[in-house]
Amino acid sequence: MELKAADIEWRQGSPYSLDYEDFYWSPVNGLEESSHVFLQHNNLHSRWQKLSSEAQSFSVGELGFGAGLNFLNCCELWLKTASDNCTLHYFSAESSPLTKDDLAKILQQWPSLSTHSQMLIDHYPPTVKGFHNIELYGGRINLCLMLGDAQEMFSALGESIDQRNSTYNKKPIDAWFLDGFSPEKNPSMWQPELCKIIAGLSSSKTTLTTYSAASQVGKSLIAAGFSVDYLDGFAEKRQIISAMLNAGLNDYPTRARGANQWHLNQLPNRPLNNQPSVAIIGAGIAGCTTAAALSKRGYKITIIDRHATAGQEASGNQQAIIYPKLSVRDDSLPRINLAAITLASRYYRTFWERGLGQQCGVLVLPDSDNQRHQFELLGQHLSHQQSLVRLVNNSQMKSISGLTLDSAQGLYFPQLGWLPPAMVCQELLEDLSIPLIKGDVDRLFRNPKSGQWELFDEQEKCLMQSDIVVIANAHDCEKFKQTDFLNIQKLRGQVTELPVTSTSKNLQTVICGEGYIAPPNNASHGCGATYNKGIDSRELRIQDHQTNLDQIIKTDQGIGRALGDVKLHELDGRANFRCTTRDYLPIVGPVPDVASMLETYQFLRIDARKDSSAMGIYHPNLYVNCGMGSRGLGYAPLTAEVLAAEIHQQLGPIERELRQAMHPSRFLIRDLKKKRI
Ligand SMILES: Cc1cc2nc3c(=O)[nH]c(=O)nc-3n(C[C@H](O)[C@H](O)[C@H](O)COP(=O)(O)OP(=O)(O)OC[C@H]3O[C@@H](n4cnc5c(N)ncnc54)[C@H](O)[C@@H]3O)c2cc1C
Repeated sequence: MELKAADIEWRQGSPYSLDYEDFYWSPVNGLEESSHVFLQHNNLHSRWQKLSSEAQSFSVGELGFGAGLNFLNCCELWLKTASDNCTLHYFSAESSPLTKDDLAKILQQWPSLSTHSQMLIDHYPPTVKGFHNIELYGGRINLCLMLGDAQEMFSALGESIDQRNSTYNKKPIDAWFLDGFSPEKNPSMWQPELCKIIAGLSSSKTTLTTYSAASQVGKSLIAAGFSVDYLDGFAEKRQIISAMLNAGLNDYPTRARGANQWHLNQLPNRPLNNQPSVAIIGAGIAGCTTAAALSKRGYKITIIDRHATAGQEASGNQQAIIYPKLSVRDDSLPRINLAAITLASRYYRTFWERGLGQQCGVLVLPDSDNQRHQFELLGQHLSHQQSLVRLVNNSQMKSISGLTLDSAQGLYFPQLGWLPPAMVCQELLEDLSIPLIKGDVDRLFRNPKSGQWELFDEQEKCLMQSDIVVIANAHDCEKFKQTDFLNIQKLRGQVTELPVTSTSKNLQTVICGEGYIAPPNNASHGCGATYNKGIDSRELRIQDHQTNLDQIIKTDQGIGRALGDVKLHELDGRANFRCTTRDYLPIVGPVPDVASMLETYQFLRIDARKDSSAMGIYHPNLYVNCGMGSRGLGYAPLTAEVLAAEIHQQLGPIERELRQAMHPSRFLIRDLKKKRI
């Protein structure tokens, strides 16, 4: 998980990489060089000026993020030239990331970029493998920092080594900056395979420049289908490479990538008008974050809920926690959780700054010897990621939490905390002026004449019509015939409001274990939560208060001592329903046309390993974002971005493998293979 940090030293006043035995950039004029090689030769100034004021986007792909000099230089130019509602998507791969301290020191070299530099330093992610999405300047710039091997990262971005690849995630990279160390210093980066992946992510309008003009670079690019020019280099550098993909190469993408993933691909939906309308069913945290993500991309959103105010059901608790669930295993669940919590800790920062909830940290205590061992492994594994997580001992826990605890050690996540999700939902809609209309949707129908979706209530009244529909109504998605196959569970849970005592008032971080308890909020601590299968009532149950109390005391007796004598019958709380899935992961993406999918992939019943080129078949412009389980607060910002990128046909903000793990079709494919259906 953790990547080896870049090993640098200072020479001639400039950072020098001991890993690659080279300077990061020219010690004399790195900034001018960046402008010359990458900005000017990709013709970015005039291309960005020409973007129309309609919310257009432009994507840059970069090999070698380094200290982000090219990125910061782009920020400066983008904010000056592109119109306010256009978005720059900057995908950059880096296999040896700098530590935050080194980054901060290096960036002092460029005082003219100090505002952007500070922004980057403030948002710099933990240097763990995977995609890190960082939204800057109110969404005008999105940095997707892909930490890991460049070939693996760009391949995981959504396309394939096979150029005749998928139609999934269609929008290509518009300009490439190949800024890795030269082939003799960093041969692994310049393998021909990587150039093929770059070609797979390009169109014939894509431009590309490289700082290195080594013949191997030129040959690899030509072999991948680029035509290559050698141009004058900057200052003492003799030449650089400028390249474009030969026309026609990527015009007819047909095949899907590799076994198992074909269902991710689909024929493009019929093009919609300039500002397509989107109806989002459900104003919980999933629906509201999706609304915000799409609104920022220029879609006209209406959210519809059976309540007049957002966040009235599962997302209505006073204090919801961002739960970490990491593991040293390389599985989808901990990887998605890691991506989700790191994004959530940035996403909710503005809400914390406004006084909603607290970024007070989350302390997780082990509930078994096995978990204690796992925590130790994680602590070792992520020993350089103190801003993400650290293993803390009993006396450290006391100063972190404010309580005297019995546990010997725990894992502390300083960037996480709690929020009141309903307030977050309401502010998301308010900030972006997204209208919420009250209506209980009973049925969805796509009118073949208009191509629009129509939303009906139980009385068969058409509540609204829309080009695109996102189903974000949690467990109630089972009532729509298009999503009833998802096999999700409605699982009751209850939280208890525990009165603050003279000792518990000192609690200053969230503590989780068997249960969780949050710092004081309006004279009580949110404490939860129960799991009650098969109970369909929102009535508070005294035995559930007891369970919550027992669980939190079992988590640590010190919490029990701080809470003192609790009078069960005086307690208040709240009960509602989670929407859980078979594999504990959210369900995000296009809604498959089940009958057609079963027919298309029926061969899997006979041969589960058979490969195919058949694409998945989906209801046009119908999407789902649900199945948040017990972790909706942490997952929602990520799933919203994943879905918005999918709808907007952008390159995905997480690895393709992780997309697949959350894809609505995954159960169909698995069940076919296991002959369950
Ligand atoms: C007791 C309890 C404690 C929890 N604690 C935490 C926690 O600490 N941290 C955490 O991350 N998660 C927690 N969760 C889980 C979290 O609350 C959920 O994952 C999250 O709120 C789900 O958000 P959602 O938007 O998918 O669903 P919801 O918030 O339930 O939103 C769905 C919306 O759809 C609307 N709707 C449904 N059907 C229709 C229809 N047919 N027409 C119109 N509108 C419709 C509903 O009115 C509702 O507003 C907890 C859950 C429970 C029950």
